[in-house]
Amino acid sequence: MSMSTDGLVIRVNNVGEYDRIVSVLTADYGIIRAFVHGARSLKNKHATTTSLLSYSHFTFSKKRDTYTITDSAVNKVFFNLRGDIVKLSLAQYFCEIAENLAPVEDEAGEYLRIMLNSLHFLSESGRDPVMLKAICELRMLAISGYTPDIVACHNCAVFENETMYFDVINGELYCPDCKPAGLNLLPIGKGVLAAMRHIVYSDFSKLYSFSLPAESLENLSRITESFLLSQIEHRFTTLEFYKNL
Ligand SMILES: [Zn+2]
Repeated sequence: MSMSTDGLVIRVNNVGEYDRIVSVLTADYGIIRAFVHGARSLKNKHATTTSLLSYSHFTFSKKRDTYTITDSAVNKVFFNLRGDIVKLSLAQYFCEIAENLAPVEDEAGEYLRIMLNSLHFLSESGRDPVMLKAICELRMLAISGYTPDIVACHNCAVFENETMYFDVINGELYCPDCKPAGLNLLPIGKGVLAAMRHIVYSDFSKLYSFSLPAESLENLSRITESFLLSQIEHRFTTLEFYKNL
């Protein structure tokens, strides 16, 4: 059996002397792990198409439970990311988020759109990288079932206050009057809360259309990161690397 589709390479593992196993994020089949013969030899036709962050058209052949890439052609390589260690490490972190949240061999169109748009804006300097980080963290969590309930205070349903409180363990929002003691609550200002609601609830076409001052973006990113880390039992080594730069 064989199938052809576009996909973004989100992980590369070297095997043996010349071969690779890659994880490819596709719209129709989610993440596919596939073997690539000879991909590490520079003159191999798959050398570029199966490198990390390449968006390519692939033909996969499946035998028993193993996929092999038999044909490939480049659509886009995010070249600008390679010369900037901060952006490159952030891009690798986005890949690690997708790898942990996107389905395997099932529909994943929105994950792919988030990745391609975020990498595009990151590489073209179209948006603040911290904003892209928050979008990748929170939107991918929301569409994979970890949707926080941030419509209103979880207890009294008040919509907003100068400061609200977000429970990162249960994904719930509280006003100052209702905030329970003993929970890991993060304070959220109005602008940051509006941005979180936008990331979770907006149409994809508007997802990247909001702005916040740099200091609020840092707060937003701290909250979305801490929500991700409290929901997913995984050590994001790419995030640790990015934060140590
Ligand atoms: Zn309340």
